[in-house]
Amino acid sequence: MTDPDFWSRQKAIITAGASGIGLKIASAMHAAGAKVWICDIAERPLAEAAAALPGLGTMVCDVADPAACNDFVARATEAMGGLDILVNNAGIAGPAAAVQDISTADWTRCFEVNVNGQFFMARAAIPHLKAAKGGSIVCMASVAGKYAFPLRSPYAASKAAVISLARALSVELGPDQIRVNAIAPGVVAGDRIRRVFTDRAATRGISYEEMEAIALRAVSMKTMVEPEEIAGLVMFLCAPSGRPISGQVMSICGGLEYTE
Ligand code: NAD
Repeated sequence: MTDPDFWSRQKAIITAGASGIGLKIASAMHAAGAKVWICDIAERPLAEAAAALPGLGTMVCDVADPAACNDFVARATEAMGGLDILVNNAGIAGPAAAVQDISTADWTRCFEVNVNGQFFMARAAIPHLKAAKGGSIVCMASVAGKYAFPLRSPYAASKAAVISLARALSVELGPDQIRVNAIAPGVVAGDRIRRVFTDRAATRGISYEEMEAIALRAVSMKTMVEPEEIAGLVMFLCAPSGRPISGQVMSICGGLEYTE
């Protein structure tokens, strides 16, 4: 079913939208005509995004802070006049280390941002999505939440929790025509993966190039995923094309079936 005005009616919130994958999603929805608000902890990238995308709403907000999440959702929904889409994108890599070497603070911070943040945002957004009589929540997980992921246990466990949260939400919100799906990207090209490979290479005592080759060994297509391709999947899920899709974990990874 084609609906040429669909995107111009949409009001969307994207967390951690000032750079990386979140900015690509915000840019794609903005280009399609949606009203978009993003939050981030980094002020300068927020200002740069606002300058690049006229009409974009921005606010500093750490998703690990429940009061800040409530404020952000309240301000964005008031400015846009409602809410149709929540993209729970914020997530940090956490430490790259063996379990016995991980501090309580590092473990806890990874869960506070990756899991608590998605809960706080969903909790604040749900009344607005219900008022709109339907909508879509996309929860950014990772293939790390589906397979064993040695030396990244806080990240892997947190992303498994995101998948479980998305599944529970999809059942709770289905009767309200609110769809909830998790996306599981694999190795995504960009700054973050460069940082992650640098950390993991150091932990293993190997070169960056060796680490990259190991990561792509498990990818059947031997390719990284472009952030724009993830934005395309988010758009597909939130648009009428995704109308009957809920409670799913969609991998976008070039065929990544295990991790090393
Ligand atoms: P990134 O590291 O490039 O960071 C993007 C933005 O997140 C930055 O602007 C940063 O300031 C912001 N941010 C960090 N902590 C925040 C917080 N507490 N509150 C609000 N904003 C915060 O991230 P990315 O690579 O774009 O990843 C986005 C999402 O995709 C994450 O959930 C990540 O786990 C997931 N993911 C990424 C990859 C990858 O290879 N890049 C793979 C799988 C899943």
